[in-house]
Amino acid sequence: MTGYFSSPFDRRHSVGVDVGGVMVGGNAPVVVQSMTNTDTADVDQTVAQVAALAKAGSEIVRITVDRDESAAAVAGIRERLDRLGINVPLVGDFHYIGHKLLADHPSCAEALAKYRINPGNVGFKEKKDKQFGAIVEMAIRYNKPVRIGVNWGSLDQELLTRLMDDNQKQGSPLTANQVMREAIVQSALLSAAAAEEIGLPREKIILSAKVSQVQDLIAVYAELAKRSDHALHLGLTEAGMGSKGIVASSAAMGILLQQGIGDTIRVSLTPEPNGDRTREVQVAQELLQTMGFRQFVPIVAACPGCGRTTSTVFQELAQNIQNDLRKNMPVWREQYPGVEELKVAVMGCIVNGPGESKHADIGISLPGTGETPTAPVFIDGKKAATLRGPDIAEEFERMVAAYIEQRFGRGGRQAAE
Ligand code: SF4
Repeated sequence: MTGYFSSPFDRRHSVGVDVGGVMVGGNAPVVVQSMTNTDTADVDQTVAQVAALAKAGSEIVRITVDRDESAAAVAGIRERLDRLGINVPLVGDFHYIGHKLLADHPSCAEALAKYRINPGNVGFKEKKDKQFGAIVEMAIRYNKPVRIGVNWGSLDQELLTRLMDDNQKQGSPLTANQVMREAIVQSALLSAAAAEEIGLPREKIILSAKVSQVQDLIAVYAELAKRSDHALHLGLTEAGMGSKGIVASSAAMGILLQQGIGDTIRVSLTPEPNGDRTREVQVAQELLQTMGFRQFVPIVAACPGCGRTTSTVFQELAQNIQNDLRKNMPVWREQYPGVEELKVAVMGCIVNGPGESKHADIGISLPGTGETPTAPVFIDGKKAATLRGPDIAEEFERMVAAYIEQRFGRGGRQAAE
């Protein structure tokens, strides 16, 4: 049983799937993925966005393959990314005509690292099984995994109707919502069984079952995890914009991840107009990192501020430090191995400032309103300096950079060995 003191690393066992060199499931850490919102036929824009997502830390990127022009562009996108040294696996998102696009564009079938199929709209009536089978056969031919991605917005209506009808005949029928959840789970499991029957090995199948309500997501994935050992891709669909999307995704996925459920995640945020698509990667990383599952970037602990801090100095300093650390990570990952474990504290006053700063690797306690205008800096738990004057922020930023070089740079690593 999962209890209050259980280890967050108690993962459910799943069959690992190799997605273009990135392991999903098995014993692999939870993988962060994202999706572009460019027209895939526009090679320049798609390459730029995939590159940005990969640089932000997306370990797999999905692209829409919705028509001939986009399927024809995929191999070129792959080549351009390879030339840029960006080897992030690309997943093709197929709906309705995936079987045809993969057959007509072998270069696309080859360049993609995984195919995503939605059993609810792969085809209808007698064509459904045929077209589903055709995509699975393509995956077998090209030795690619598939994600069977059920979405409640495009749920297999025949299956849902059948379950609704059966339910009506029961003595104590389930609610319509319970039947819908069951239909989602069954759609994923029956499709996976059908794919296996055609010959796709278990280690080539990932399942997802996306819904837009937090409680539905938790219930559906708990059931999927109970009934199968397929690797699971987690994501709340139509999560929404801004803080609503972030909170809903984090609440739903946080609970599942804590129960050991979920091998890869995507935070589906509706971007602001002209907003930064990489935000979804950042949120996914922060979710995994704050829960203690993975380390991606150094953490900045900052107090919320209160009536004791009437200036914005500490807010600006905390933000600058966090932005700087994130911006430098792509280079630092190579230059300073282990730097993602760094903990920085930026605190607003003397009440909790020194205490919190001592717990960080490097921390500063800024002067609150009415306090002496000095800022003690703590390094590895000991007071290392007291900063004064108008350049406290810049001096602290320099000290953080020097600390990183000294501890995680080549010299620091050699001294520690
Ligand atoms: S550390 Fe000081 S400024 Fe920050 S929240 Fe606590 S009392 Fe307020």
